Amino acid sequence: MKAKKRLGQNFLQDDGIINNIIKIIHPTIEDHIIEIGPGHGAIITYLQASGAELQLIELDDDLIPILTNRFLHFNNITLHHMDALKLRLADGLSYKVVGNLPYNISTPILINMLYQANAIKQMVFMLQKEVVDRICANPGEKNFGRLSVMLQHRFDCSGLLVIKPEAFIPAPKVDSQIIMLTPKTQVTKVPLPALESLVKQAFQQRRKTIRNNLKKTVTIQQLESVGINPNQRPETINVSQYEQLALTIC
Ligand code: SAM
Repeated sequence: MKAKKRLGQNFLQDDGIINNIIKIIHPTIEDHIIEIGPGHGAIITYLQASGAELQLIELDDDLIPILTNRFLHFNNITLHHMDALKLRLADGLSYKVVGNLPYNISTPILINMLYQANAIKQMVFMLQKEVVDRICANPGEKNFGRLSVMLQHRFDCSGLLVIKPEAFIPAPKVDSQIIMLTPKTQVTKVPLPALESLVKQAFQQRRKTIRNNLKKTVTIQQLESVGINPNQRPETINVSQYEQLALTIC
């Protein structure tokens, strides 16, 4: 089957790497696992063998019959033919959400999951390495930005295995990396839309000062009240300061 660029299809073909990903996911019989974008099923066999309850979320019409034939006789697997951006996790369970994500929509998928973090035990995703670097960046680093603040607010984020393009068919143009996101046990209670909107404005123009970027919504006094110098650049302000600032203005 020809890979579809518009669906971000780069299929894993390296068994050694697939084994390493499975070790990171560490599926067990108690797990409820959701795989986003299973493709032809590169990792399903290994997830299924653990006895975990497994739900597959795949959008591509042409992959549905293939997945159905190969995997739907296993009684621990359910297939949902749907858009992962519309995924709603059922209340009352704690899911492991995994997947080699379609890179063109990895950010909105991550934000959708962030809003449902209460139902998540752990996430293990393959992303572009550059996106993993951004998510895991520290304040003061040039790639610290919106995604770093939003995801570090709710998750402990670890960049793991780096994977070269040759591990996929077709080979992407960039390196990939596995990221593990584990919900934090202690979370500052900030309404997510308020934090999201603040951070969006704060990073609108990275070369401007925070005072300039936020001049429509935040006063100098409010910035100073959470220990921010109004002349700081947005990427030098830490996650806790963004959380405090969002609380001050919401
Ligand atoms: N997991 C497979 C592998 O590693 O070989 C395939 C990974 S491929 C990078 C991304 C997968 O996500 C494809 O199967 C693609 O059809 C699927 N996909 C793309 N957009 C999607 C969406 N909005 N919702 C669900 N699946 C999607």
